[in-house]
Amino acid sequence: MDKVQLASRLPGRLSRLADLSANLWWSWTIPARELFESIDGRLWRSSGHNPVRLLSEVEPRRLESLAADEEFLGKLDSVIELFDRRMSDEKNWVTKTYPGVFNHPVAYFSMEFAVHNSLPMYAGGLGVLAGDICKEASDLGLPFVGVGFMYPEGYFHQRISEDGWQIEHYRQLDFDLAPISRVTQPDGSRFLLSLLLGNKNIYLTAWEVKVGRGVLYLLDTNVPENEPGDRELSARLYSAGREIRLQQEYLLGIGGVRLLRALGINPVAWHCNEGHTSFLLLELLRERLTAGDSLESAIEKVRDQAVFTTHTPVPAGHDTFDPALMDRYFCCYWDSLKIERDEFLSLGQASPDEYFNMTVLGLKLSRRANAVSRLHGEVSRKMWRRLYGSTPESAVPIGHITNGIHVPTWETPPLTKAFEKYIGNDWYDRRHEIGFRDLLNKVPDEVLWQAHQFRKQRLIHLITERSRQEWSNAEVSSRRLVALGALMDPDVLTIGFVRRFVEYKRPSLLFRDVERLKKIVRNWQRPVQFIFAGKSHPADFMAKELIHRVYSQATDREFEGRVCFIEDYDLHLARYLVSGVDVWLNNPRRLLEASGTSGMKAGINGVPNASILDGWWQEGFNGKNGWAIGSEEKPENPLDEDSRDASDLYQLLEEQILPMYYDRDVTDSPRRWLKVMREAIASTVWEFSASRMMIEYVEQMYLPIARSLIGK
Ligand SMILES: *Cc1c(COP(=O)(O)O)cnc(C)c1O
Repeated sequence: MDKVQLASRLPGRLSRLADLSANLWWSWTIPARELFESIDGRLWRSSGHNPVRLLSEVEPRRLESLAADEEFLGKLDSVIELFDRRMSDEKNWVTKTYPGVFNHPVAYFSMEFAVHNSLPMYAGGLGVLAGDICKEASDLGLPFVGVGFMYPEGYFHQRISEDGWQIEHYRQLDFDLAPISRVTQPDGSRFLLSLLLGNKNIYLTAWEVKVGRGVLYLLDTNVPENEPGDRELSARLYSAGREIRLQQEYLLGIGGVRLLRALGINPVAWHCNEGHTSFLLLELLRERLTAGDSLESAIEKVRDQAVFTTHTPVPAGHDTFDPALMDRYFCCYWDSLKIERDEFLSLGQASPDEYFNMTVLGLKLSRRANAVSRLHGEVSRKMWRRLYGSTPESAVPIGHITNGIHVPTWETPPLTKAFEKYIGNDWYDRRHEIGFRDLLNKVPDEVLWQAHQFRKQRLIHLITERSRQEWSNAEVSSRRLVALGALMDPDVLTIGFVRRFVEYKRPSLLFRDVERLKKIVRNWQRPVQFIFAGKSHPADFMAKELIHRVYSQATDREFEGRVCFIEDYDLHLARYLVSGVDVWLNNPRRLLEASGTSGMKAGINGVPNASILDGWWQEGFNGKNGWAIGSEEKPENPLDEDSRDASDLYQLLEEQILPMYYDRDVTDSPRRWLKVMREAIASTVWEFSASRMMIEYVEQMYLPIARSLIGK
């Protein structure tokens, strides 16, 4: 069913539901979510919270009866009224603070965007950040367009085989049931862009996703004009080898700029989210040169409008391409820049003969660059000092803007409602106040505890329901059911280790001394259980080994069913996990985690972090809002670092976390624990929010550019 059919399916009085379902604004607005849920709760859940699907599949009789239901109509009208107001009013931060400055949007390019489950265009934190930025830009009233890819197969879904190995499978996205629409020409025909990739023409079409006031444009090569192989260029995220990666990045950067120009959009600033997107800067350079600028002046003008964010503290993690591969795809392109091959390649090199490095390109062609946490800023300045001649490390022009999360997306309803009730409906706008801690103290302990227990039950229910389905669908061993969490207990302290499985995050650190851990887990007076989840990259065999190792532990009887691995970590599961476990565990090898954001999501939900002092936690930990594992000292030998951190983690569990959690008063309330929960919220809900982060991006990055363009 396409969107036109969808609208015609709705009784006249309900027609605005079609608009509402077509803008992901609903996904971070509690009354809008509840409205959809009230249409048909069962269908709402089975649709994966996808209103387009819900409205396409709900019984016509149900729609007729809702169209005559005064209570429903009242709620509908008030949600629509809010929607219309938020999409157009001038009472937003940007218009109030900087009137008349942002006359054109900020363009934000990213290889991934995680906006909602119904669009699986992300692999992990980078995409979640990009999605949260789109939403926050809308809330702040910042004119904004995102540019990325429409991957019809997205990122893979994960299953774990009976013997503990990750199995990847891809599902084709049903375009008709996704909250997207085709970008069309003014005459209504399909939009088609063609560009030269190496020696052949590639055609691109585009899709539009409405994210509040902003728009996300997604490029797609799956059009009949392309050869079959090329139609698949944008089929999947990060799946294939170097050459496809280069082709994708070429299409994203160069095609993305051409798309915006074709749509008549002239951004005020161009923001590259990670090196994958840096080719867009070449296209801006080409535009300038075509307009007659000299190379030097063109470079300066591009730099003036460009913002670059780096996310990778490991040299090997940056995208680089063999010059021979660059020759294949860029030999026509550097002709169009009217520069020689070597000069062209040098834009992506710190010194000749290196591979072409996308981060180097981004840094060379943008005036404003940032890392994503304070510590990552230090690491990045050290890493890239060699690009800046004799500049001392401290003066390397890479600053930092610490990541943050979109609070309305990640704060779960029981807490939001408690804040509204005890602090007031303006709690959200008061988060930055010095006195917010005192406001938070108005929420009684009991209410905070019950809100958390509710989320914990929801999480454990979800896990046990998945095991039940597994059991009823097919022949499955009891070992597997236990490993998937069938024996999880809502009364037991629950610790989550949930993140991409990759070596530096050390998912198996907890099992470094299995006997010691077993003692901790099997203490019947103070039991503890662990929930693991996370995908490993399909080509990363080491990471798959780590999943296998953790899964094998989960099947060990001596852990008594208190260790489990949940399949297919995604945005949906993330919301349950960050709010439903009691402690959020993070133990990367120090200095290798740029920021991390999942711990912030836990924090705002009153789930304290136990983490290595790396990424955001170096700034976030204040001695009262959770625990630090290990120390800032970094042993020479990684194995020493592992054993020190593991034994520190055991000690924390034995001496602090477990005793505090089970220390209850006469009403069975863990008073000391609740203090930590409160502090976890207070220390994150503003400081690590996307609001704080986006205000920094606006004031440090976009505003100077916008002002210089309008001469203010
Ligand atoms: C927040 C989030 C991430 C990022 O997690 P980190 O632990 O910060 O790396 C990755 N995947 C999903 C699905 C998320 O929601």
